[in-house]
Amino acid sequence: MRRILIAIVALAFLGIIAYGMFGMGGSSGAGGMLRSDVSVNDPSAPAITVRDLDVGQGDATYIHNGDSRVLIDGGPDARRMGVLLDSLGLNNKTMDVVILTHQHSDHYTGLLPLFDSRRHIRIRYFFEDKDPAAASTLARLRDSIVSRVQSDSLQYRSTDDPCGDGEAMCTITLRGGALMHIMRPLPAPAKPNNRSVAVKLVGADSASFTMWIAGDAEHAAIAHFEAAGYAANPGMKVDVLKADHHGSCNGVTPRYLELTQPTWAVASLGAVNDYGHMHQQAKAEYRDAGVKWYRTDQNGTVTIQSPGLPGSGYTITPSRPGTDLNGPSDRRASARGCSGSES
Ligand SMILES: [Zn+2]
Repeated sequence: MRRILIAIVALAFLGIIAYGMFGMGGSSGAGGMLRSDVSVNDPSAPAITVRDLDVGQGDATYIHNGDSRVLIDGGPDARRMGVLLDSLGLNNKTMDVVILTHQHSDHYTGLLPLFDSRRHIRIRYFFEDKDPAAASTLARLRDSIVSRVQSDSLQYRSTDDPCGDGEAMCTITLRGGALMHIMRPLPAPAKPNNRSVAVKLVGADSASFTMWIAGDAEHAAIAHFEAAGYAANPGMKVDVLKADHHGSCNGVTPRYLELTQPTWAVASLGAVNDYGHMHQQAKAEYRDAGVKWYRTDQNGTVTIQSPGLPGSGYTITPSRPGTDLNGPSDRRASARGCSGSES
């Protein structure tokens, strides 16, 4: 605990002296500071906005803090994400961090338009597992990334070594002061869902706002998060949990909810999907743990905002009202490991 506190204080200090900069360091907090090319509009603006974007059956989370922009996954549809990039005003802007949680098309296809040269979007860091894959769309995305490495100094990082320093965890200080911890996933070989990287977002302090995002991590990956010590550092208790794997029953366990203790879960999915998401068992587990949920298929884009001041709290606002809603595809899953809980 003391080590964490020291690291946080050190990072905060670096944040103050590195006015308008963007910091990255291993779990020791000893990373290099990198100069931003972005003109800083209001370096003291600490507000945090997280949007779980309504992208259909897939995931896309956009984070804005100070003048830092982060996109975690891009959803299944390049055209839809293109419209969102337009409406979020991201053309001609710099994306500080883009994270592909794992190599499935409902997470990466929507990242393609980021590299459309007409959009003039600069990307500074791109994280993904870099596991070999046959999919041609992923190959196209990777070609675009590599070409930016050569032409525009994009840093291309493996989630297995997120800071490039051998540490399991990489902490990024966003320009509004929020911290983002990127944690090494379950090692290869594991199926793609279980290679999902975990990301924890921490506001001005852990009493203002925290969120846990772990792509499509299933039970084995969820067990890994605890085994790897992430419950102690950076800590897994959060205000908002991005529901793993679109509200699948294999994306939640009672133990996971005990460790994360979220007030809210946000599931990202399409109303009509072939997987039965959200699964009845998953909803039962959230309900049993007292966790309320929003879901993008019924609520639309879900926006979380925090003033970013110590102890300032947060608001969570769906585009369409209603909590703990059901969807037309929701069904009970028969998968092994999902039978323990009845709806
Ligand atoms: Zn998915």
